[in-house]
Amino acid sequence: MTYCSKSAVVTGSTSGIGLAIARALAKEGANVLINGFGEPHDIEKERAGLEAEFGIKVVYSPADMSKPDQVAGMMHQAQEVFGAVDILVNNAGIQFVSPVEDFPVEKWDQIIAINLSSAFHAIRAAVPDMKARKWGRIINTASAHSLVASPFKSAYVAAKHGIVGLTKTVALEVATDGITVNCISPGYVWTPLVEKQIPDTMKARGLTKEQVINDVLLKAQPTKQFVTVDQVAALAAFLCSDAASQITGTNLSMDGGWTAE
Ligand code: NAD
Repeated sequence: MTYCSKSAVVTGSTSGIGLAIARALAKEGANVLINGFGEPHDIEKERAGLEAEFGIKVVYSPADMSKPDQVAGMMHQAQEVFGAVDILVNNAGIQFVSPVEDFPVEKWDQIIAINLSSAFHAIRAAVPDMKARKWGRIINTASAHSLVASPFKSAYVAAKHGIVGLTKTVALEVATDGITVNCISPGYVWTPLVEKQIPDTMKARGLTKEQVINDVLLKAQPTKQFVTVDQVAALAAFLCSDAASQITGTNLSMDGGWTAE
């Protein structure tokens, strides 16, 4: 499966799952806009490295996904540089762990903005061109938390359940336009996002680091293994292929059996 001449936007792709998806799409021949935060030197190294390795064009947008005007600006940048956006991967996401009564209001607003609303803003900017070209792929990184809850993650679980609703709705709206819209719902993937929530979970539940990893995180995952970023990226690349043209409006789990229980 190669998509020479296709162009992709992958939000939150300076790290973790998004970076692996950007890499997988670049490997297939797509031009990519990468986005996210980080050290400018590291981001430029990644951008230039992808271009050199795969012979495609890679541009970087520092757009903050919590700001609707910056999401629109990022989509405009990709459309200007590439001519069109064929593949949109809404992946940027953050986590915050706290009992609901102590959950900071600004953290709630930030998580809903980044993990849910940014996908709406990017999708509404991408769809007109995709419709005109009669081809498009929209992939939203959801989570096992789009299907089941865990305590102390009210904003994250609400946003991830919400993105499934957005996915299904848009999939129906564009079903006859050659555009598919799907969620990928990983269980625990070993990335900085998971690593960063360990101290808060230790505090919230009074546990050691090892207890959080084995008894909280991997407790839910029957395979007792973390998902890898490359496994998620391979599914995203498959969803962009013609073989996946009839997969739309779905929420594909990759969670080691977590949500089977
Ligand atoms: P990560 O922390 O490694 O990467 C998050 C990316 O989002 C980074 O590039 C970061 O710079 C970017 N980002 C954060 N805030 C942003 C903002 N305001 N604007 C633009 N970019 C921003 O995390 P990850 O684990 O790779 O998570 C990626 C996605 O996968 C998230 O949506 C997350 O909810 C989801 N997910 C992760 C796991 C997991 O176990 N790691 C499991 C299920 C779902």
